[in-house]
Amino acid sequence: MPSKYVFVTGGVLSSVGKGITTASLGLLLKARGYSVTAIKIDPYLNVDAGTMNPYMHGEVYVTEDGGETDLDLGHYERFLHINLSKKNNITTGQVYMRVIDAERRGEYLGQTVQIIPHITNEIKRRIREVASETGADIILVEIGGTVGDIEGQPFLEAVRQMRIEEGPGNTLSIHVALVPILSVTGEQKTKPVQHSVQELRRIGIQPDAIVARCKRPLEPEAKRKIALYSSLPEHAVFSSHDVETVYEVPLLLEEQGLGSYAASKLGLEDRRPDLESWREFVARLKDASRRVEVAMVGKYTRLKDSYMSIVEAVKHAAASLRLIPAFRWVEASRIESEKLDVDDVLRGSQAVIVLPGFGARGSEGKIDSIRYARENKIPFLGICYGMQLAVVEFARNVVGLRGAHSTEIDPHTPYPVIDLLAEQHGISRLGGTMRLGAYPIRLVKGSLVYRLYGKELVAERHRHRYEVNPRFIDKLEASGLMVSGVSEDGGRVEFVEYREHDFYVGSQPHPEFKSRPLEPAPLFLGLLSAATRVG
Ligand code: GLN
Repeated sequence: MPSKYVFVTGGVLSSVGKGITTASLGLLLKARGYSVTAIKIDPYLNVDAGTMNPYMHGEVYVTEDGGETDLDLGHYERFLHINLSKKNNITTGQVYMRVIDAERRGEYLGQTVQIIPHITNEIKRRIREVASETGADIILVEIGGTVGDIEGQPFLEAVRQMRIEEGPGNTLSIHVALVPILSVTGEQKTKPVQHSVQELRRIGIQPDAIVARCKRPLEPEAKRKIALYSSLPEHAVFSSHDVETVYEVPLLLEEQGLGSYAASKLGLEDRRPDLESWREFVARLKDASRRVEVAMVGKYTRLKDSYMSIVEAVKHAAASLRLIPAFRWVEASRIESEKLDVDDVLRGSQAVIVLPGFGARGSEGKIDSIRYARENKIPFLGICYGMQLAVVEFARNVVGLRGAHSTEIDPHTPYPVIDLLAEQHGISRLGGTMRLGAYPIRLVKGSLVYRLYGKELVAERHRHRYEVNPRFIDKLEASGLMVSGVSEDGGRVEFVEYREHDFYVGSQPHPEFKSRPLEPAPLFLGLLSAATRVG
């Protein structure tokens, strides 16, 4: 069977949940026994998300093969329970770079190189490459931004062409658009959706279905209007109203028949979906009764999307332990600038996660938080930068190495316990040059991480330039900080733990990227179950 394509566009506003809709539809098709993959198109000129500020863009999601991608790939991986490649995130920057490179090599043989057909051809080539490399039955393609954006036009033109080239029944166009409620009358207004559908049609794309994002269930009158003005039957208009958790969205759309509708439109047999374990997961999430308070210490805490995968990983673990996670967001730089007493800031937390990050701002606040967790025996997980700063804290306050630091922050520290990875010397370009992606790690038998993972060899994803300086391992270990995981390639420090505690773990890799609703990451499970033992 040739691959089928589902194109998801957005209307009215961005950030209305296209990513969740795409991931949800993917799950409904996967639950029918089809193999599914998903592509995110980002119409910006950055080659990847790696150089983008998480404050503006949200978290940088890292794939197995070391792609620094848009956070929507995280939704896809979590909902579809699959691993994607960096090729599943296509940006304008990648497309233009490739076309301009080819032009410089003279590959266009004297032609004028243009947006149509050269850019659009490259877009189609990239989408089809994912299809041929994965062999998936269905390729979902989400186009970032909103219909009508100048940046998105070449992508929509490529979609229009693909719909013709792939032939009837082989593609589906889904338009996700916001239906606002007028506060004065409480009425759902459909005019913005009508306009965005018109805009889509002007480009030459007639949507096959509309997913209306709204606060409350779509009213019959609003549905009727959207259907009429989109030239669609009413059963092709779906209500995606606010629900308690994003993991409910697939079930909400399934109830309204989106899965069957999509399958039949794609000429696929509509099999009975197997959503049993997903339903159970959602039920566990909603039925949990015991609250557990988790402090999240970082420097981008104002935009929670900056740490999306960690938040989700905590939720997955919490659901399986029937806990309700309550996040206490702690802006580490405030501990420094406002001279806050860390005891006051963290008192009552049952677990402390020190989040990944870069640079000096907030680093001392994080170190203070780590000291608090260590001294008060609060279950602690330091991730990436959080692990590195835990080593700094331990070196300073337990080993007694005054002024110990990471050379990222203090290049002249007398005790550079965290130092640049050897292979990073001489690298000056910032884009895509960190140690990225999954690497195998050997766990030390008898350690806590070994017990939690239940095996000796694991692979976790990385994104860093610095590491524990091997010169200090003996000193750290002599004072009780155990190196409990090392990389297969050259014995780099990957995990540390403090055995005097129930749970005190530093993780150089990012375990959050591999946490799945139905398969929570072992370190988060360990952290939360330890948290329940705190008064
Ligand atoms: N800044 C640190 C490094 O580059 C940690 C990075 C991170 O937390 N992702 O190694």
